[in-house]
Amino acid sequence: MAESTTSNLQDLVCEYVKKLVPYESARRLFSGGQYWLNANESPFSHSYGVDSERFNRYPECQPEELITGYANYTGISADKVLVSRGADEGIELLIRAFCLPGQDSVLICPPTYGMYAISAETFNINVEKAPLLADFSLDLEALKQVANSDNIPKLVFLCSPNNPTGTLLSEQQITEVLALFAGKSLVVLDEAYIEFSWRDNWATKLNEYPQLVILRTLSKAFGLAGLRCGFTLASEEIIKTLLKVIAPYPISNPVAQIAAQALSDNGLRQMQKDVQLIQTEQASLKDTLSQIKAFELVGDDKANFLLFRTAEKQAMMDYLVSNGMLIRDQSKQLHLDNCLRVSIGNAEENQQLLKLITSFLQRENNQ
Ligand SMILES: *Cc1c(COP(=O)(O)O)cnc(C)c1O
Repeated sequence: MAESTTSNLQDLVCEYVKKLVPYESARRLFSGGQYWLNANESPFSHSYGVDSERFNRYPECQPEELITGYANYTGISADKVLVSRGADEGIELLIRAFCLPGQDSVLICPPTYGMYAISAETFNINVEKAPLLADFSLDLEALKQVANSDNIPKLVFLCSPNNPTGTLLSEQQITEVLALFAGKSLVVLDEAYIEFSWRDNWATKLNEYPQLVILRTLSKAFGLAGLRCGFTLASEEIIKTLLKVIAPYPISNPVAQIAAQALSDNGLRQMQKDVQLIQTEQASLKDTLSQIKAFELVGDDKANFLLFRTAEKQAMMDYLVSNGMLIRDQSKQLHLDNCLRVSIGNAEENQQLLKLITSFLQRENNQ
């Protein structure tokens, strides 16, 4: 009886869904562990007040204080801002609003953030690739071919600073991509880590490029990954289109209250302080790692993590994890064989990481 129910259920599941594998988020891969340097979260958390007075009411779809707070923070007008359940929901809304399932495609430039492809696949959207070159810059020749082909993607995802390489795309390269796809595709620039490279942010150029969409989040520099709050910045017309497909109440009232506090003058000052502390820690960790002969630093330091290659990748990963130190294996990504990514933690976490790396290497040498 139970068996036939199961097989009937499998008959009901969409063919393309049967093939899906859930995203291996850092939190899903490992539970437990004492030191979490695997999800590029902030090591700092701050306290916020929540007023329960309006919990009996449904929240605003786009809480006004939050929208104006983010618009002011990033120097653009409020009608160009959409707030969603993390930047991940922004990715999903773009796919749902602009891509026709079973027909349209998106373009990604690996190695990069995994959710663009995962999100596309959950809606039966094709994923085309124009891999980054060995120096992690864009392959403009490949992109030009795509732009001139008869299979033009609806969305072109760029990520700068890029996860997991920590590299920035040059202004010139992004400008060229915007020109190549003008009038053809939306260019989605993921700036999840832009607070660590603020001078390179593109928000103020939205007026110049109607096809430009920017993704932002409170999950990284703002230290609010647990809140699930992200922003999509784009022309008023694109924002209006996304508002057609978003849920009626995507942002809960407590989230809106806390996010608005994070975007207040005090909240922004705190975030900038945190960014400085992380960058100081990052510089010192980078310096130490670069002196280890068994390591090759890969990519750049433009976000809140470092990437390195080591021949002992698997043994090192196992050793760290068995000692409660969670980091992220990136070795399956293109160009990143034997690469591990570590988020920058607080001073104690980083010291612990170095201590464990040192004891691992000593152990190996003694064998
Ligand atoms: C972490 C991350 C996101 C997701 O942000 P959320 O707001 O937590 O959904 C998006 N893009 C990149 C590149 C990221 O690293």
